[in-house]
Amino acid sequence: MTVSEHTPTPPSATFHIVGAQLVTGEHADILLRDGVIAQVGTVTDAAGATRVDADGLVALPGLVDLHTHLREPGYEQSETVLTGTQAAAAGGFTAVFAMANTLPVADTAGVVEQVASLGASAGYAMVQPIGAVTVGLAGERLAELGTMAASRARVRVFSDDGLCVSDPLLMRRALEYVKAFDGVIAQHAQDPRLTVGAQMNEGALSGEIGMVGWPGVAEESIIARDVLLAEHVGSHLHVCHLSTAGSVEIVRWAKARGIRVTAEVTPHHLLLTEELVASYDPRYKVNPPLRRAEDVAALRDALADGTIDTVATDHAPHPIEAKECEWDAAANGMVGLESALSVVHEAMVATGLMGWADVARVLSATPARIGRLTGHGRPIATDEPANLTLYDPRGRSSFDLARLVGQSSNSPYLGRVLPGRVVATFHNGYPTQLDGVVRPAEEVAAAARLAEQRGRSDTPEDNGRHRFTRS
Ligand SMILES: [Zn+2]
Repeated sequence: MTVSEHTPTPPSATFHIVGAQLVTGEHADILLRDGVIAQVGTVTDAAGATRVDADGLVALPGLVDLHTHLREPGYEQSETVLTGTQAAAAGGFTAVFAMANTLPVADTAGVVEQVASLGASAGYAMVQPIGAVTVGLAGERLAELGTMAASRARVRVFSDDGLCVSDPLLMRRALEYVKAFDGVIAQHAQDPRLTVGAQMNEGALSGEIGMVGWPGVAEESIIARDVLLAEHVGSHLHVCHLSTAGSVEIVRWAKARGIRVTAEVTPHHLLLTEELVASYDPRYKVNPPLRRAEDVAALRDALADGTIDTVATDHAPHPIEAKECEWDAAANGMVGLESALSVVHEAMVATGLMGWADVARVLSATPARIGRLTGHGRPIATDEPANLTLYDPRGRSSFDLARLVGQSSNSPYLGRVLPGRVVATFHNGYPTQLDGVVRPAEEVAAAARLAEQRGRSDTPEDNGRHRFTRS
């Protein structure tokens, strides 16, 4: 294949990262060459490399988000695969799982292949589609899970997220079905009957404000049912966005019993509490809702002790008109990709609950493992794929609009002081973000084409056939 004269010049294929701090605490130089980490420690041959000064920066494996709403196809006024993965690059992510609640719904091979291919050609991050569990998210009959699994997108995670698979028989059938290809059902645990018209956490505050409450038991009862179903059929259940102390107890019990269950928590449920709702600012409207301080404390402890496996953003972009309105009419959801690492830093690292190695585990290695990705979540070591992010943990600053590069700006953190800043993100060996600036689309797309020609390590087809065998 010849490179046409109209192809924009991609950046250099070799990068010499100087003086980064690894998650072990050691300082090291890192050489990225042709999409692979060529050397870590002392770099002996940096000829022709672009030098990246990483003094004071923490080098983390590229972050992986199990729960992103990219909105394309169908809701491009909120986000597109391109703008959503630019937000991912800004936040240090190199792989995102795209939720299925698009229009059309991602319930066929055609839609999941389209989403994966849009992500691959944009090049900012690997986009791994999540397939719907039920046709049209209608909760009535199973979607073509096997066809999506066998498609070029190699779907392994299925979810009706936004909606709960509330019919126990359908949930059982879905859990049974995915066993054939080692899939996972990711449940949005919300009993629909217990949450009709709900606007915020149910408790003393909802009574005071006079809003319809979303009781914790609506989440906990579904999780309790589903861990038992997962045990009964011997399948893998993943619980999306745990939000209550009671949910933590159930997951802890299920894990102790040996049930195959994994769980995620969002950054906002680790930091924000229901009191913010009293401002009536719809930026704080999210599903599941912000909970009590006791819940936040339980979620933090559970993430630190491994009961909760991973942090997932639930990045949910909405246009201004869906958020700048009365609370009751406002859409649920917050953007989260750009702020995730700073929020986890604030909630977990600054509090002494976790170190950087734990951050790498919950934001990279574990979500990659749960989602069956093989080219991501790998350690920063020789011969591993060059997916990594450089984070500056020093200083605190007001999180402002300039930090939001996705299409929507419904962030609850605008104007809030947060620690740290992502300085650079490398995907397949090329920077998608450098010096805090997302690289231009043409340049990143050109780098992605070169990576494709070279045989990039993170095509869906590679899942389960990983060529990097070191552990
Ligand atoms: Zn959800």
